[in-house]
Parts: sequence; structure tokens; C-alpha cells
Amino acid sequence: MVTLNRIHDARNNIMDTVIKTPMYTSEQLNKISKNNIFLKGEHVQKTGSFKIRGATNKVKQAVEEGAKYITAASSGNHGQAVAYIANKLGVPSKIVVPEDAVLSKLNAIESYGGLIEKCGTTSAERLPRAKEIAKKENGIFIPPYDDPFIMAGQGTVGLEIIDQIESADIIIVPIGGGGLLSGILTAIKETKPSIKVIGVEPEVANDTFLSLQAGKITSIHDAPTIADGLRTSQPGDLTFPVLLKYLDDLILVSEEEIKHAFQFVLERMKQLIEPSSATTIAAAMFHKLGVENKNIVAVISGGNVDIKQINHFF
Ligand SMILES: *Cc1c(COP(=O)(O)O)cnc(C)c1O
Repeated sequence: MVTLNRIHDARNNIMDTVIKTPMYTSEQLNKISKNNIFLKGEHVQKTGSFKIRGATNKVKQAVEEGAKYITAASSGNHGQAVAYIANKLGVPSKIVVPEDAVLSKLNAIESYGGLIEKCGTTSAERLPRAKEIAKKENGIFIPPYDDPFIMAGQGTVGLEIIDQIESADIIIVPIGGGGLLSGILTAIKETKPSIKVIGVEPEVANDTFLSLQAGKITSIHDAPTIADGLRTSQPGDLTFPVLLKYLDDLILVSEEEIKHAFQFVLERMKQLIEPSSATTIAAAMFHKLGVENKNIVAVISGGNVDIKQINHFF
């Protein structure tokens, strides 16, 4: 289970690899939202997303226990993070990606020192392959969210937020598999439970919303959102119980709202973020919280975009 202690351990464990990311503010955004908004900028984190936090915590532990090879199944931010930290620790890594993965993402994985293997088009094909390679090479497979070390690593974002914005009333977090949210929930609710923590999903990728409604893990078959980090089909076996225990609320945002927030942050704040991160800002901009004059932290989870695709995000 992820605990506050494990998150403190994770913070020590990853300190020499990750950076303490800055908070961004905008008077214009405050005016639109009618609240004081602080954007926690994980888009300027090493490898361009918070994923390096969990990956570093998990891969370091695996290498200490003797792992000689690291694998993951992700062409996105998790794959980049795993390749980066494995390389830094001097261990070879292989990232299993879909046949149709875009070149810019493969280039990023390779630039961080990861080997690439293409396999199928679904995670049902990639996952067993990545696990098989790990077994054969005397190594370990690194899951993207459903693991106590990963969740604890992501939870360090929560500890930093409490340090940086002592007067925070509300924290808004995007939800994919729920690793980031479950980590932040544990850090916040076991340190300063008066702070509200609210999750955000795209309307068209509402698997966690449906799961909470049903009181059990429920999956969706299609998640046609531009927020590609949030297309997970269901919350995790380990992350979901943490959400059930601690989550204050879950907000849904439309594709149009995500695009609007993306454009605002790029044009007005000069920050290049990814659509997955624009969801939390959209929630604040479009008054989804139903509050005014509160101190609200919206987590910008990452900033990796294929610049040639950017016109699809407006
Ligand atoms: C992975 C990711 C998410 C979702 O995180 P989970 O831990 O899967 O919930 C959100 N935003 C970005 C940029 C991501 O890479």
C-alpha cells in the first residue's frame, strides 16, 4: 500500500534526479476563474512530465535489489521516464511500443538511451511482451501506475505543493490510471486533510467517474480524447481504493474546454503544456468547482507534445 512514510522515503530517493518544479500564476487566469490559481509546473520536470518521479523511485529500488534489465510498455511519458532513469543508473532498458507509435516519441525514448521494440497496437499485446523480456533478461517490468513505489513517487508532487502553497484550499489533479492522484491524495490527506483534492477526467474518457459511481472498477472501450495521457480504460486495482477512501470530488471537462485552456496557457502564459494537463486548468477556467476567492493549485502534469500536431489542440 502507498503510505505517507513511503512518500517521504520516495522524496529522499529521487531528490538527486528530479527537480522541485515551479508554480506559475496569471492575473488574467485569476480574473477568469474568480479564484487564485497556482499552476504546479511538471511540464518543466526532467523528461517533461511527473512520470520521472515514480519511475525513479521504482527503478532505483529494482536496481538495488539486483535487476539487470528494465522494461516498460508505453510510447508516452512513462516510457521516456523509465528509459532516462535506467540509463542514468547504468542498466539497459527496453520500451515496448505500439507498431503505430509516432516517430517523435520513439526519438525521445532513444535519446534517453532506451531500446525500442514494436509490438501490436493494444496494451493487451504490449504488456505480456514487456513482462516476458524482463523475465528472460533477469530484469524487472515497471508498471505505469499500479504499484506502491510508483504511487509513492508521484505522491512527492503533493509534498511539494504543501511546502510551496501553505494556504492551498483545493488541489486539482488529472486522472489516467490514478497513480498521480492516489499519491497526491495520500500525501495531502495524511498531512493536511482540510485541503480538498479533486480529480479531473475528459468527458469522453470517464472510466474513473463511472467506477466511482458504480463503487467498483468499471472499464470503457474507447477514449477518443486529445488528452492522450488520460486514455486509460480503467483505474488500477491499487489506485482505485485510495480514490474511494480520500477523493473529495471528480470533475469532467469537454474536449472544447481542454482546447480552450491549452490555447490560453500557450498564448497568455507562454507555457507549452500537453492536453492532459490542460484539463485541470479547464476545470478552473470554466467554473467547474463552484467556488470563488479560493487558493487553487492545478497540477500541470506534463509538456510533451509533437509540435507538428499542435494545430489539433486549438
Ligand atoms: C501519465 C499522465 C497522466 C495520468 O497519470 P496517472 O498516474 O496515469 O493517473 C496525466 N498527465 C500526464 C502528462 C501523464 O503523462
